[in-house]
Amino acid sequence: MLSEPQRTVVRPSNTLRKCIATVALSGTLPDKLEAAAAVGFDGVEIMESDLLTFDGSPADVRRICEGLGLAIDIYQPFRDFEAMPEPQRARNMDRAERKFDVMQALGTDLVLVCSNTHPATINDDSRAAADLAEMAERAARRGLRVGYEGLSWARHVTLWGHAWRIVQQAAHPALGLIVDSFHTLSLGDDPSGIAQVPAEKLFFVQMADAPKLSLDVLSWSRHFRNFPGQGDLDVIGFMRAVLASGYTGPLSLEVFNDDFRAAPARLVARDGLRSLILTEAEASGGAGLPAAPTLGGVEFLEFAVDETAGQALASFLRTLGFHHAGRHRSKSVDLYRQGGVNLVLNAEQDSAAAEHFQLHGSSVCAMAIRVDDATRTLDRARALLCPEWQEPVGAGERRIPAVRAPDGTLVYLVQPETSGRTFWEDDFELLPAGGEPANLTEIDHVVLALPAGRMTTYLLFWRAVFGLVPQPQLDTPDPYGLVQSRALLSPNAKVRLVLNASESRATATGRFVSAYAGAGVHHVALSTPDIVRTAEMFEALHAPLLAVPVNYYDDLSARWGLDDAALTALQRHGLLYDRDGESEFWQIYTDAFHDRFFFEAVQRRAGYAGFGAVNASVRAAAQARQHPPATDLL
Ligand code: MG
Ligand code: MG
Repeated sequence: MLSEPQRTVVRPSNTLRKCIATVALSGTLPDKLEAAAAVGFDGVEIMESDLLTFDGSPADVRRICEGLGLAIDIYQPFRDFEAMPEPQRARNMDRAERKFDVMQALGTDLVLVCSNTHPATINDDSRAAADLAEMAERAARRGLRVGYEGLSWARHVTLWGHAWRIVQQAAHPALGLIVDSFHTLSLGDDPSGIAQVPAEKLFFVQMADAPKLSLDVLSWSRHFRNFPGQGDLDVIGFMRAVLASGYTGPLSLEVFNDDFRAAPARLVARDGLRSLILTEAEASGGAGLPAAPTLGGVEFLEFAVDETAGQALASFLRTLGFHHAGRHRSKSVDLYRQGGVNLVLNAEQDSAAAEHFQLHGSSVCAMAIRVDDATRTLDRARALLCPEWQEPVGAGERRIPAVRAPDGTLVYLVQPETSGRTFWEDDFELLPAGGEPANLTEIDHVVLALPAGRMTTYLLFWRAVFGLVPQPQLDTPDPYGLVQSRALLSPNAKVRLVLNASESRATATGRFVSAYAGAGVHHVALSTPDIVRTAEMFEALHAPLLAVPVNYYDDLSARWGLDDAALTALQRHGLLYDRDGESEFWQIYTDAFHDRFFFEAVQRRAGYAGFGAVNASVRAAAQARQHPPATDLL
């Protein structure tokens, strides 16, 4: 039984219709259609492979789509058609007639013909044009249309401009051009001329991005395409050319991706629609989408705990120099503070935090980002399919607007105060500072551990809603597998996130994801202006620190030629070190709390911009020694 689609988001009327190819989504054909409709797509591309494996007729597919309010915008693909010698040429015309039968049963008027890959195809544009004109004539007799697309690995016609010349030569009103950003951009071809194609001859537009890989274009396309904004191709430039042509048809996602086909269909469908909304807005100068916020850092992190875990975490934080700075006026919520770092411990029952604690144990359940304008940010988030979240508040307490990240973590939006009172003063009984601060000043960065295959979902969310800019992906070795790591920064570098994912369940990242049952905050880096002093305070307060092997320091000395004083300080305090040109990064790690998340103090010197990725393997090995993975994870 199909559930009713919920179309809660109304998109601006001046934007193009949005469509997705069924091949992008997991499940049976009805699952795919339900997911596309549920998140708000207007139409679908029915892939022949999905139809062939469906236990029902094309008319049944049509009825399902009608019930869901989905148009079938195109049927595809029709392969190896044009410029074939006889007798294949005549057979192809018969094959076309049978496709037309299917299209009429589906209730779609457009078929995609991709340029020929067959070894027997003749390199002759006139032959290709004549065949396509004949197919278009046969289609027109039934009120159908044919779109011709240049495939990047075809025998002869690989470029959109070449396909366009053939369409022009065929000069049939029922024949038009189909462009696909992957085919154009994967070959390094220039899409700007698409702007000059008459809009009525541009029959359909397919959008896909991809990471830059050194791979043959067919394998690259079949396994690694992703949604616009998730990869490295200039999909914005491509879409700008499409919009400049005056095209008014659908923007469609044609994406083949191994991870997407293994992920829940609705999650992938929502990512897809979000990516199209973002890309269209960016290509049209932001039209229809409120501007991304200017970020001012992380205002607080909130940990879901119960009373017992809350006491244990409070003790842990005291060893890092935090003091109990406030008690919430109406809830079982405590503030721990040091410098500009605010950590909230939430043990309130019947709350979102309690629900989070039930699901995940002690862990970060919310983070608060400082934005220039919370209302505009919420409007942007809504337009990008992220609904607002509202926590119940007590009388006189501040309601902080929030959105939910894909993992369910709340992201609060904190804007500069205009009332002269902070929400801390409104909502908390603030307590005087006490204890020994360890020099920590701000949240430097937050590291999330993600299940394998989910990197693109999180990358798109943070990029789309908050305007974070993805940095190149790094692979860091762990004793039990590789960890893929991707940093995202706000343009002013005030907010830094690192996304880690691992195929192995036994790496530090994989163990976190298994224990936590999902994606979540694995580690929090706190900045200090004097890391040696911070380390000394940690030691004095008996902070549980990660042990670093002596070999690490022998290697450091050889690699960087550090002076004796620096080397002694590093080794004495178990610090890690990285350098980039003249800039330096000094780090110290704590042991994990409840074998779950951990902290790090970092000092950036002379503008160091990275995250000490070179040291991640040292840290991972030390963690694995202290908490070996359970054998069933290996
Ligand atoms: Mg295509
Ligand atoms: Mg891109």
